Amino acid sequence: MQPFISAHPPRLRGFSYTDGEELEQGEAIMALLEVENVSKSFGGLIAVNCVSLTFNQGEILGLIGPNGAGKSTLFNLISGVEKPNGGRIRFDGRDITGTAPDEICRYGIARTFQLVRPFSQLSPLENVMVGRVFGSAPALSMGQARLESEKILSLAGLASKRVKTAGMLGLVDRKRLEIARALATRPKLLLLDEMMAGLNLTEINAAIALIKRIRDSGISLIVVEHVMKVILNISDRVIVLKTGEKIADGSPREVASNPLVIEAYLGKGNVC
Ligand code: ADP
Ligand code: MG
Repeated sequence: MQPFISAHPPRLRGFSYTDGEELEQGEAIMALLEVENVSKSFGGLIAVNCVSLTFNQGEILGLIGPNGAGKSTLFNLISGVEKPNGGRIRFDGRDITGTAPDEICRYGIARTFQLVRPFSQLSPLENVMVGRVFGSAPALSMGQARLESEKILSLAGLASKRVKTAGMLGLVDRKRLEIARALATRPKLLLLDEMMAGLNLTEINAAIALIKRIRDSGISLIVVEHVMKVILNISDRVIVLKTGEKIADGSPREVASNPLVIEAYLGKGNVC
């Protein structure tokens, strides 16, 4: 049987619910994603301005910035939804600049959208099965797709709701389903765009636990989130965008105490 997450699992630290091996101590961590001087304009507006970043396997990278900073546009560029006006994007050793989203998905990048959009007439299980028959390592049969999709729904906390219609799910469950659909494509890199907006504290804590479980399963994540405490808590590294430009890149502690970030992102006061 195929491993649950990836036919080519990234080799990572931590436990795995796949058959993947753990990273040996001292083993080199390679860059999974390299964004080099990437820009995107819409008419006269520069949404992303010459942004570069390197992202390592196994990391949770937090991406923050005020509304309109270019976070979702950067996700769109990485996932192929938008094509950059300039710059290069490399993923897993391959140049993916300007590549179509379905091809990028097959290479192992999945993303959620800020506005969740499941197939509302299908059940959650069917929604996830759609992801399992496309993506980087499609299931070989519908039976296999169903079995694996049931496991993914359980991981996302939706096991008891798999046969409802997706359109009947509440906000929290629709967000869980969005993550489950993305996971079903067996990504090496998962981009989460504001999955916690509108959630209460208990739901946020459950979402944090889910993100950590996903990382521990061998999937790297870039997380856009407005709740600063969440980002500082879950991220290995944080990048800050402001009006399309990268203004900070460092550990949560460094970024939280960076005066540029405090001024740009919060206006004043303490980041926490
Ligand atoms: P963020 O996710 O950080 O809030 P966005 O990436 O959504 O920011 O937007 C960055 C800027 O680009 C905003 O000014 C937004 O209005 C603009 N923008 C984003 N997408 C488009 C688009 N498809 N067409 C025109 N302007 C866009
Ligand atoms: Mg956004």
